[in-house]
Parts: sequence; structure tokens; C-alpha cells
Amino acid sequence: MASVGSITRQIEALEISGGGKNLPTAPSSSSIRPLHTKQPSQTNVAKLLTKFAAPNPFPNSKAAHPPSSLRHPTQALPTKQQAPAGIANATTQASIDIGKYDGGLEIDEEKRGEVVYGEAAEDLALDSSVSRKSPTREWHLSDFDIGRPLGKGKFGRVYMVRTKSEPRYILALKTLYKSEIVQGKVEKQIRREIEIQQNLRHPNVLRLYGYFHDTKRIFLMLEFAGKGELYKQLSKHGCFSEKRSSRYIDQMADALSYLHAKHVIHRDIKPENLLLGINGELKIGDFGWSVHAPGNRRKTLCGTLDYLPPEMIESREHDHKVDLWALGVLTYEFLIGNPPFEDRSSVQNTYRRIAKVDLKLPASISLEARDLIARLLQYDPQRRIPLSDVLRHPWIIKYRPKGVIRQSAEATA
Ligand code: ATP
Ligand code: MG
Repeated sequence: MASVGSITRQIEALEISGGGKNLPTAPSSSSIRPLHTKQPSQTNVAKLLTKFAAPNPFPNSKAAHPPSSLRHPTQALPTKQQAPAGIANATTQASIDIGKYDGGLEIDEEKRGEVVYGEAAEDLALDSSVSRKSPTREWHLSDFDIGRPLGKGKFGRVYMVRTKSEPRYILALKTLYKSEIVQGKVEKQIRREIEIQQNLRHPNVLRLYGYFHDTKRIFLMLEFAGKGELYKQLSKHGCFSEKRSSRYIDQMADALSYLHAKHVIHRDIKPENLLLGINGELKIGDFGWSVHAPGNRRKTLCGTLDYLPPEMIESREHDHKVDLWALGVLTYEFLIGNPPFEDRSSVQNTYRRIAKVDLKLPASISLEARDLIARLLQYDPQRRIPLSDVLRHPWIIKYRPKGVIRQSAEATA
């Protein structure tokens, strides 16, 4: 029987997308569609489900992600014409236990959420089957077997699910209650961020395969991060070794370099927003979701402001270099167990420490790691070490597994 790891690699190699070939393409003026006026997908479900991912956009970093035959899907997995092999593949997918469903969606259905009308309803009529850039087949909740709960998000629950149709993909299905999004006044931002995330393809960025909605909810079909939250690991261990920290920061720098080349700024890097794949690889999730009213977050979420750079604290203009600052904070927190400017006595003190760059690097941190942290935590954003240099930094090179070659997307963009 195939291992969970190998199945996950297969899933990673697959693209649950229509590629736009046979699908009706929404005209640009219809980017906001009236509620429930889906254009019928003309695409054969089975064909779509055996459509594979575009070639690796990072050919030089292939080795970072074990050169599995599954990463060359035309050899290892069935093409559209080889339907029987597809069924064999589906069997292995079906053999993975997705756990027991707790009935949470029905409980929520009774207790929370109202139907949303008007402009907000149009903003939230999100459906990847009619997305202009990456159309998928049309999806509905009834297309999934629902398994164990994975967690609770701000706007709804997240479940491990499997598609009922072959090959039976394993995914994380995240629900978002439309009325709660409207209450939070974030409908436009959520719409934009979902559309951005669907177009991102990087091994360390959580994939969004598709999305659909009903009258009350939006459903996001996310890549399943088999090892869960990185934050839990950090809490369990207190801090990480230099080797483990360096490897995470290497993956983060590679992913950020990709995002920045696509003009996407994360703005909310912190351990809580990082997940781990089945092989322990880091996956950035929730990016760009800092649009969730940072003002409120500061008050309600302990620790969040620890990652804010001086320019944001001082309400100055900011750019992608905010992510470099946060990478420095993250490096420190991995190695020490808490962020560098934390001051539990008062929020004001933390602000002050950030604005002064009051950085104390404990002797337990190696010289190389200190050097990188100090280069990232520069008050002047222009002076922060660029990601292409982070990827070449001695502390990163020292622990990078043999055979992994990184090519900074930033440098080549
Ligand atoms: P919060 O503000 O609490 O982080 P959120 O709306 O950002 O909420 P998520 O963090 O995306 O919601 O999801 C809530 C929890 O569900 C996560 O902390 C994680 O444990 C789990 N989860 C979310 N997505 C996945 C995934 N793709 N794979 C595995 N687990 C996931
Ligand atoms: Mg989250």
C-alpha cells in the first residue's frame, strides 16, 4: 500500500484545474457575477481530475523536493487516455483514513451564518469554475467525503476531505461564513486574496486548488498540510535547533522570493500562519490575510505585533521589505522560543523596542545566525539583506541538504 507521504506527493503533483481549455471564460466585465449564475462547466470531470500540474517553475530547486517519479506525472500517473491506471491510483487514495466527521458543518448551519444579499453577496459569489485565470471544474459540498476536523478558523471550520470522484484527492476544506465576513467588512479583501492564492504555485506555499460557495458559505479547497501547524511544534519543543531553524528559513526565503517576484507581499509572517507538509516541509498559508483588520488583531491576538516592522508601527509607507523584517523575527523566535522585541508588561514597550531596534542576541545563538538576524532586523528597510543573499548566507548554506539548489526568483525576476 502506498504511504501517506507518497500519496501526498502525488496530490502535490496534480492540478485540479481545467486549465481553461474547454471551459467558458468569463469576460473581464463579469469579474463580479450575480449570485448563483454559474456558467455550466463543459469539462469532463474525469479528464480534469487527471490533469497534471504545470512543469515545476523552479527547475533548479527540484532537488529540494525529493526527485520522485511522481513529480514527473506523465510517466508515473495516467494521462487522460489511460483511464484504467487512473483507477488504480484512485484506490490508493481511497485507502487513506480521513478520520471521523463530527457533524460540525450541520451544527454551524443551525447556529451561525445568514444569507447575504446585495453587493456583498456579489463580492462573495466566489467560484473557481468561472475564474478567468485558473478555471477549475465546478465543485459542490456534495462532491466530498468529509473526515476529521483539522481546526477552526476565524470564519468557519476546516476539515480533512476526499473527493468522491476518481482519483480521490485528499484536501483540507475550509469554510468561511459569508455573513461573518460581511460583519468584519473584509469581503473585498477576501475575494482578492483568494484569487491571488489560487494563482500561486510553489512547494512552500499552500496551494488553493479551487473554491465554491452556497448561499451562506464559501469553501476553499486547500492543499492538506499533513503535519499541521508549525506553531504547535514550536510550542512543543520550546525552540528549534540551528539546523532545523536554518532549513525552515531557507524554505521561507525561497517562498518569499517567489511571492515578491509576483508582487505579493505576505505582511503577516509568524509561526501561527505556517503549516507543515507530510514530509515536514514548510507551507506558508494565510498570506496576504493581514487585511483582516490588523488594528483589531493587535488588540485581540497576543503576540501578533511582535512581527511588525518599525515602518508599520510608525505608520509610514511600507513595501515587500516588511517580510524581510518578519523573517528576522521568525529566525530569532525559532532559535530562542520567543520573539526578540516581546515585552509582556505592555504593548507600548514592545512598540518602543521595535522602533529602537532594541535587539539583544543571546550568546546561545551561533555567530552565523546572529549575523543573519542582525542583517534582517535593520530599521531602514533598504538596508535589510535581500532574499537572494539570505539564500546564499553561510548559516543557510551550512545546513541546506546536499543537492538542493536554490535560484532566487527575486534575482531572476
Ligand atoms: P486563525 O486566525 O485562527 O488562524 P484562520 O481563519 O486563519 O484562523 P486557518 O488558520 O486557516 O484559519 O485554519 C484554522 C486551523 O485549521 C489551522 O490553525 C490548522 O490547524 C487547520 N488547517 C487549516 N488549513 C489547513 C490545511 N490546509 N491542512 C491542515 N490543517 C489546516
Ligand atoms: Mg490562520
